[in-house]
Amino acid sequence: MTGTLTEIISENAREAQLWEPIDGYRVRCLACGHRCPIPVGFSGVCKVRFNREGKLYAPWGYVVNPLCEPIEKKPFFHVLPGALTLSFGMLGCCLHCPYCQNWVTSQALRDPRAVAAPQAADPRALVEDAIGLGARVVVSTYNEPLITSEWAVAIFKEAKAAGLATGFVSNGNATAKVLEYLRPWLDFYKVDLKSFDDKRYRQLGGRLQPIVDTIVRLKEMGFWVEIVTLLVPGFNDSKDELTRLTDFIARVSPDIPWHVTAFHANYKMRSRGDTTTEMLVNAADIGRSAGLRFVYAGNLPGCVGDLENTRCPSCRSLLVSRYGYVIRQYRITSAGACPSCGTQVPGRWSEHFEPQVTSVPFSPRRRRGLDRMA
Ligand code: SF4
Repeated sequence: MTGTLTEIISENAREAQLWEPIDGYRVRCLACGHRCPIPVGFSGVCKVRFNREGKLYAPWGYVVNPLCEPIEKKPFFHVLPGALTLSFGMLGCCLHCPYCQNWVTSQALRDPRAVAAPQAADPRALVEDAIGLGARVVVSTYNEPLITSEWAVAIFKEAKAAGLATGFVSNGNATAKVLEYLRPWLDFYKVDLKSFDDKRYRQLGGRLQPIVDTIVRLKEMGFWVEIVTLLVPGFNDSKDELTRLTDFIARVSPDIPWHVTAFHANYKMRSRGDTTTEMLVNAADIGRSAGLRFVYAGNLPGCVGDLENTRCPSCRSLLVSRYGYVIRQYRITSAGACPSCGTQVPGRWSEHFEPQVTSVPFSPRRRRGLDRMA
């Protein structure tokens, strides 16, 4: 694709499905919790959805940096352990976190240093590539997928027709409308719950309440949900905040897996120290005290003992042993139960464990789906 990012975003768009008219001049976008009112000729907070002649337009027809990854990297630990995902992103986000790990894609048009190269793509060819590579799941990630939901659904329709599962890796700043729109085509939803303090969320460009509402709705609507919290020292790691955060998750469901992961200096947040093993373990203890039955510590493989593994919530038998993204042992039965005591383990499990295609991310070798529309 050639041209400036502004030109690419303007040209690679279709009339959106998640909007409503306000008056003859403004429309309201319904794709995320900001619910932006957008006058003709302007874009919303995310910079990628815009009002052209009284209609809302949304990104279409491209992907950025597609990658094959083990599903553990997303992280999903209770979904098809060891499965390969084909992960794709687009451009833009409704938040502007100073420690974003995907800022090159998410902060496009907001930060002049964020220069990612979109590639033209076709949904069916992309899914054919995923199957050819051995992927069992297609995941919308890297930018905020809610703001590009129409394009994700176009790909997910093809994925589901081909027998693949689908996932979102999202900040959770959703509306009821976008979740209803996604529900027929989306199986697994990971929410990045960044804090339990509204003041912190406002620093990131959002509010806490829409994220809380999303998590409740996702469970009510039957999505498989896992939650991750990047533990940023001095930002969201106080005992009080973590207690309120994990109490909330446990009230929604003690069976929601909670991943507390280690922060490393990144993007605009470079002067803060990294999360230590002790900090992660202490946070995990708070989660377990709140009643969460599946608590995991991430980004420090081999340092957190049993906090990378899945154990039976009843008899504590080891069910899945992990090292980073490597599955070392898998003992869940074909019925999704503990082989020792028969307790059902919440999640979406394979009938039979299939060997991992990879435990490290790689670029797709075959690019047919990405080149067909280029
Ligand atoms: S996706 Fe969110 S930020 Fe973007 S225009 Fe819609 S409501 Fe605004």
